[in-house]
Amino acid sequence: MPCQVVPEKNIPVIPAMGKDNTSSSPFTKRLEGKIAIVTGGARGIGEATVRLFAIHGAKVVIADVEDVLGLALASSLSSPSAQAVVTYVHCDVSSEDDVENLIDSTVSEFGRLDILFNNAGILGSQTKHKKSIVDFDAVEFDRIMRVNVRGVGLGMKHAARAMIRRGTAGSIISTASVAGVMGGMGPHSYTASKHAIVGLTKNAACELGKYGIRVNCISPFGVATPMMVNAWRSTHYDGGGDEEDEDDDGGAGIFNRQVLVEKTEEFVRSLANLKGGATLKASDIAEAALYLASDESRYVSGHNLVVDGGVTTSRNCINL
Ligand code: NAD
Repeated sequence: MPCQVVPEKNIPVIPAMGKDNTSSSPFTKRLEGKIAIVTGGARGIGEATVRLFAIHGAKVVIADVEDVLGLALASSLSSPSAQAVVTYVHCDVSSEDDVENLIDSTVSEFGRLDILFNNAGILGSQTKHKKSIVDFDAVEFDRIMRVNVRGVGLGMKHAARAMIRRGTAGSIISTASVAGVMGGMGPHSYTASKHAIVGLTKNAACELGKYGIRVNCISPFGVATPMMVNAWRSTHYDGGGDEEDEDDDGGAGIFNRQVLVEKTEEFVRSLANLKGGATLKASDIAEAALYLASDESRYVSGHNLVVDGGVTTSRNCINL
């Protein structure tokens, strides 16, 4: 009689590694049956997280203002061969009506909400003349705070209401940044907004613990998403590019998108603490979100999960 190896209780089956070294294999579906929302899910870190959450069995709602990208992603992941349920809802996270509609429509379609990933964010203009505090731009500050902080606060509010109403535990995750850990890692307004997200996370975790709702944030170092690539481009070419303006070539029209991604990754690697060829990818942040969303982190709350290869514990300002 062949001997059968039964996995010990509570020891997860280690999934096979994917090509990019991520454990995105569907062998152990860590979010089976969960309902998740990912704001800013149409591209970048949000897109990578939508893909990973769907692979792990969650039904995912993408919330974004980029309707064409968001709808295309949802329909590509929901094709019959993909065997996933991914939908798209237009939502400007700075609008309370939009956020309320996002949460309400998710609950009415899927019955509840288990996970909110408050990931949408903007960096703001990167033009050199706007970098100094002596040129502090109050209009720009308000614009960034509306999306990055008000958006996160509104997401927490309406997700917590839905979770409390139903009496189920839940996980609320937000994307902060290394710029929310220390100074000198980004523009002033962006840095202020990311520090505020860490504060909101801690305070909300204190209050919502009694309902079994966990609240955490993730602080990535540089990832060559459209936000970071456009920032690199406008910083190096001083063409006045803004991270939201995909079509503004910032004076770097000589490079195609792939080359810009490679140059941005090269730049980030040059500032990194972790050497040996490691490059931070959107999928690494998605893995952190997966951990905080899953039951494997069931006793983790009020935490800022820094994914930076040690940059914030090891060194200096990079003056992005
Ligand atoms: P990105 O620009 O590629 O993606 C951001 C997404 O958010 C886009 O799909 C965009 O349309 C969406 N968005 C912007 N404003 C919105 C709004 N008002 N309502 C709804 N959606 C909106 O950038 P990313 O790098 O993937 O950024 C994701 C998050 O990660 C942001 O909060 C960013 O601050 C944070 N972050 C990024 C890095 C990095 O190096 N890329 C580092 C640290 C933190």
